[in-house]
Amino acid sequence: MRVGLSVDPPLAAIPGVLALEGVDAFQTVLRDPGRFGNYGVPEPADRAALVEGLRGKSAWGVAHGSLLINLASPEGRIRNSSVSSLLADLKVAAEVGLAGVCFHVGYSKGHPNVEAAVTLATRKLGELVEKMPDGPRLFLENSCEGSELGQTVPELARLLRDVGAPPERLGLLVDTCHLHAAGFDLSGEGAGERLADAFAAEGVLDRVVAFHLNDCQLPCGAHRDRHAVPGEGTIGMGVVSVAAHRAFAELPGVIELSVEDARRGLGFLREHGALDKGR
Ligand SMILES: [Zn+2]
Repeated sequence: MRVGLSVDPPLAAIPGVLALEGVDAFQTVLRDPGRFGNYGVPEPADRAALVEGLRGKSAWGVAHGSLLINLASPEGRIRNSSVSSLLADLKVAAEVGLAGVCFHVGYSKGHPNVEAAVTLATRKLGELVEKMPDGPRLFLENSCEGSELGQTVPELARLLRDVGAPPERLGLLVDTCHLHAAGFDLSGEGAGERLADAFAAEGVLDRVVAFHLNDCQLPCGAHRDRHAVPGEGTIGMGVVSVAAHRAFAELPGVIELSVEDARRGLGFLREHGALDKGR
């Protein structure tokens, strides 16, 4: 897999970090992740510095959307803010040449049942896809905590099917820690094959376009989002198995930890031949 790391703004710092760590995939944020509204959006000069720094380098980048996004919220204000925040991120992502914006779809909390929440999220996601600018894609990321939607492979596949957006608009970003925490056991050598089979069984293997290649601090099924350095958590060699699997080996991924911790994870992946050639 083409694995990189997570780098916080300023965006101008990203090219230097990538060069130093010898990777060409990254994740960043394009706003203060804890607030709705245009807070902490990178200034034009900072955006220009990223574009300039990555010129001719064919790096792959993704922005992580606001952590407040809830397309299934019973409150219209939250649903609409979720849409406008993602649209604003997509616009900046287009300007600086990122591949897409990843996001968690939302929560069933406040609804009489999961079905009602999924229906609402599907409708809102459809509206978002209608309005999105050309260029960067939306990456639907799997979740693992509480009443979060999109925790299982069948749920993710259903969302994709129901929204009906084309692959060049909406793809899946798989967080290995979240999936393991949500109860899909990714430990052990056969993890890559089991994962590919599960997506293929739902007919959406080709919709998997990127990874958050995190190990997990807690046991499978703990439903808590606690990332670990690849090779140092409860997934262990399963991370290698996923990264090296033929269905995923050409895809980009990022380790969502500090640069120091990600460096250790990259070392582990490299040692086990799970990094793309030359990286
Ligand atoms: Zn996470």
